[in-house]
Amino acid sequence: KVIEGEALRKKLHNTILELKGNIRVFCRVRPLLSDDGIDNVTKTISFPTTTEALGRGIEVVQHGQTHPFMFDKVFTPQSSQEEVFVEISQLVQSALDGYKVCIFAYGQTGSGKTHTMMGTPGSYDDKGLIPRSLEQIFEAREKLKEQGWKYEMQVSMLEIYNETIRDLLSSNKYSSTDSGNKQQYAIKHDSNGNTSVADLTIVDVRSSKEVAFLLNRAAQSRSVGKTQMNEQSSRSHFVFTLRISGVNETMEQHVQGVLNLIDLAGSERLSKSGSTGDRLKETQAINKSLSSLTDVIFALAKKEEHVPYRNSKLTYLLQPCLGGDSKTLMVVNVSPAQSSVNESLCSLRFAARVNACEISIPRRQTSMRYLEPRLSYG
Ligand code: ADP
Ligand code: MG
Repeated sequence: KVIEGEALRKKLHNTILELKGNIRVFCRVRPLLSDDGIDNVTKTISFPTTTEALGRGIEVVQHGQTHPFMFDKVFTPQSSQEEVFVEISQLVQSALDGYKVCIFAYGQTGSGKTHTMMGTPGSYDDKGLIPRSLEQIFEAREKLKEQGWKYEMQVSMLEIYNETIRDLLSSNKYSSTDSGNKQQYAIKHDSNGNTSVADLTIVDVRSSKEVAFLLNRAAQSRSVGKTQMNEQSSRSHFVFTLRISGVNETMEQHVQGVLNLIDLAGSERLSKSGSTGDRLKETQAINKSLSSLTDVIFALAKKEEHVPYRNSKLTYLLQPCLGGDSKTLMVVNVSPAQSSVNESLCSLRFAARVNACEISIPRRQTSMRYLEPRLSYG
């Protein structure tokens, strides 16, 4: 039995989604680090405090010229992990309601992508949004149990390097690089919008502690790659996927949500002139997948008939989670250092283009609120 109120709410929800678009762009500027050097004390980035731009505006000075930008939200170097997560928690929550969610961290190497997604290892207060999301999801699951919901959760973690998938939870660490097997890690989508990656390790999880354990394992697997494969981690995309399946027998409802949390490869334009061999191949692979991601977002925004998902492994893998009524958030990470000003401007311009994808209707709300969760609690 669908209650009228519920149906109405859903309709309203969809209307609001349409109005607001389902791509959000946040910007986060990390603090200046001692590694940035003494040359960097000159202020290149500032945050306007006018009523309109407060918490949303950012200004970059390059060659004496000021470039202003506006996003759904701008986090300053003082913003804590907690403050960032507060703005994202509703989006995370919606995966429990059966939505497909993608959250990307974009930016040059050293801009704070991994800090934002994972946090700094060993420091509890500094947990990033992957561990925070999982804690919230498992906490919510307990509360939803009281309303008759039973959830099953599965985790997979992979890395895409040079258009090759590497399973980070596989016991065989070098499975993808050693094997000449073309079918391995082949991506398939079924008619229900479910994605499978051949041979990829999928783990049933019952607590955020279990996921934390797996994240550690994945991090180790990544760092093995790092020393052996030339700082691979900044040249690869890290994709964390949580599949959520919920059943409520008394309400006769079934939901299937997906939460993808993605730490993208560094967006810096690697000099093409100096690149040869492996390095050139890497550069081309990163450029290809980052530009494919942009192409897909723009095609979706323009409601084009053909969306070029198949142009890269990353977009093909995420196809069911980009577009439709799925929800996407791009967190653009920026370094405040003077020496990074060119790359920072590049990242912000990219972000501004993504943000403009839904600018046609003026937005009233500044923070991301996707309506109250359908399975609201507490
Ligand atoms: P990326 O993953 O984009 O290459 P990292 O997340 O590794 O960058 O960040 C580079 C350095 O800056 C790390 O030492 C990290 O701990 C630090 N850092 C990044 N963002 C912040 C932040 N918001 N607060 C404090 N330190 C940060
Ligand atoms: Mg990183």
